[in-house]
Amino acid sequence: MRFNPFLSAIFRTFSNFTRPGAPSTASFAALRPVPLRSMSGIPFLGALFGTSSSTSSTMTYPDKRSDTEWQAVLTKEQFRILREKGTEPAGSGKFDKHYPEEGVYTCAGCHTPLYRANHKFKSGCGWPAYFDSIPGAVNRHEDRTLGMLRTEIVCSNCGGHLGHVFKGEGFPTPTDERHCVNSVSLNFSPDDKAAAGSSKESKA
Ligand SMILES: [Zn+2]
Repeated sequence: MRFNPFLSAIFRTFSNFTRPGAPSTASFAALRPVPLRSMSGIPFLGALFGTSSSTSSTMTYPDKRSDTEWQAVLTKEQFRILREKGTEPAGSGKFDKHYPEEGVYTCAGCHTPLYRANHKFKSGCGWPAYFDSIPGAVNRHEDRTLGMLRTEIVCSNCGGHLGHVFKGEGFPTPTDERHCVNSVSLNFSPDDKAAAGSSKESKA
């Protein structure tokens, strides 16, 4: 008979039970397969590790690069946030307290212009805050992770996770919306040409 590792394992298990004085209960527990796969099925853990079940993960975007392709062009932190919907620690981002006179914030993944300098405002929340985006640049999705109902915002070209948008907080802005965006998801260009002419209504 051919050697069969599975049968061999069963035989060894059985041997443990029959060995005199062996701690059979402990042996059995140690030999039980660890249900690794079921871990990701626990919603709380899934949310913690960023494998969100948000609808955006099933959407398609013009830029359809695979995870492998993204890993080749993004830093680990950019990949964690843009592609795995992570969040940078509050107050840690390079654009949190960045208030240029002009310029444009682009997607750190695909370089699509997303926000103009004059969309940005001081929210004190610890992440870059914008009251509006360049028209059509940002898509919204319902996000039910972490036991909350939030609106996730992603780059409309590559689906890269930006953060969330909150409404009705009372900030004195034209929209009373706050795009709460991870700095890691953004690059900044002082040259506003990329967004020129696309956002006339954004005058603050
Ligand atoms: Zn993008």
